[in-house]
Amino acid sequence: MKTKQCYWCSNRIPLAQVGIACADCAAKFADRKARVTVTAVVGSAWYPDCDPFFSMAFNPKRYRKPLRKFNALLRSDVVDGWHNEDSEDTLTARLDSVRWSGLHCMEVEVTCDQYADFKAQGYCYLEVF
Ligand SMILES: [Zn+2]
Repeated sequence: MKTKQCYWCSNRIPLAQVGIACADCAAKFADRKARVTVTAVVGSAWYPDCDPFFSMAFNPKRYRKPLRKFNALLRSDVVDGWHNEDSEDTLTARLDSVRWSGLHCMEVEVTCDQYADFKAQGYCYLEVF
């Protein structure tokens, strides 16, 4: 019987099966908010006196040097925010005010949907509370 690999794990499933998950993973991820633990390179950013507004997890297998991507995504997020509000700040001042954590490798929990992004594009946005 021809088989394909489950999208989520190393199990094999019949090629003819509709869907991309084995029975185990399908059950586990039936709840799209189910959480998976991954090893990720993580960084967050915030404005002075504020909680972080931006948090990213990079798949170290896909991104050997995630810093450039982190900076590009952060910049784009800050620029979008600045455009969407009536601020007295110049864009340069806004960008200069951003503080960040540095990048650290750690275990993080991501939702099933975030994990799909993490695997497919090599990074995902983490929920910021
Ligand atoms: Zn599976």
